[in-house]
This record gives sequence, structure tokens and C-alpha cells, in this order.
Amino acid sequence: MMNKFKAVLKEHGRSVTKSRLLLFGYLQEQDAVTVKQFLDDNLAIADRASLYRALQLFKEVGVVEERFLAGRRLIELTDLYDAHHHHLCCRRCGTATAVDMPEVEAALLAFCKARGFCVDKHLIEADGLCANCSKQRIPH
Ligand SMILES: [Zn+2]
Ligand SMILES: [Zn+2]
Repeated sequence: MMNKFKAVLKEHGRSVTKSRLLLFGYLQEQDAVTVKQFLDDNLAIADRASLYRALQLFKEVGVVEERFLAGRRLIELTDLYDAHHHHLCCRRCGTATAVDMPEVEAALLAFCKARGFCVDKHLIEADGLCANCSKQRIPH
């Protein structure tokens, strides 16, 4: 993935810098994060303005995409740079947990195929309370 990232920067006439590589490495280790968290976590690499510019660049070249999950705008690597997955979004603590749902994927594709529909992309997200938050739920 790192090589693919380097190649896409070159393809777009951008140089492969140490900070860009570090930021890409950070995104590989994270699941979806808010822009604020991305900036806060990487201040050791560059200042806010540079981090923000790097993020814009990542979006431009298709490395990162924005998603609205549980009402929040989050960023994460696109499927080209990360295994395809979906999210379980907690509306209380805001965590977006990445999950693989191979059975759901297969069922969805079979459903579409049976109707002669060619799927380009799909989104499946579940909103609710995570295991932690549902335990802490105040009883009525
Ligand atoms: Zn939660
Ligand atoms: Zn899927």
C-alpha cells in the first residue's frame, strides 16, 4: 500500500515527502477519524496548516474520502488503500467501528444481480449504541 501511495503521488506530480508517508502510515493504523483528531494526533509531524493541506492533497488524489457516520464528518482511507469494510456507529461516544460483513456483501450482490443491476459502490452503515454505551444506558 505504501508503494501504491508513493506511485499515486508521483502520478499527480507531487513529491514523496517524509511527512506525507508518516501521515499515510497514521491513516493505515486508524479507523475513521474526525479532521480535528487527524490534526491533533499529528502535530509532531507538521503544523496544523500543513497537515490540513496534506489532507486536501490526499483527498484530491483519491487516497482519503469523507464519510458522514453517526452525524459526524469523518475521514478515512478509500477502499483502494484499505480493505473494503463497513461501520457500526455509536451515537453516544461517536466511535465508528470497522466491520467486515461478507455474508451481507454476498447477499447484496446476489440481490442486485437477480435484478440485473450492476453495483458500482454501496454503503452499509449501522447507527446505534456500542456495547459499552448500551451497558451504561440509564434504565427508565
Ligand atoms: Zn459508544
Ligand atoms: Zn461492502
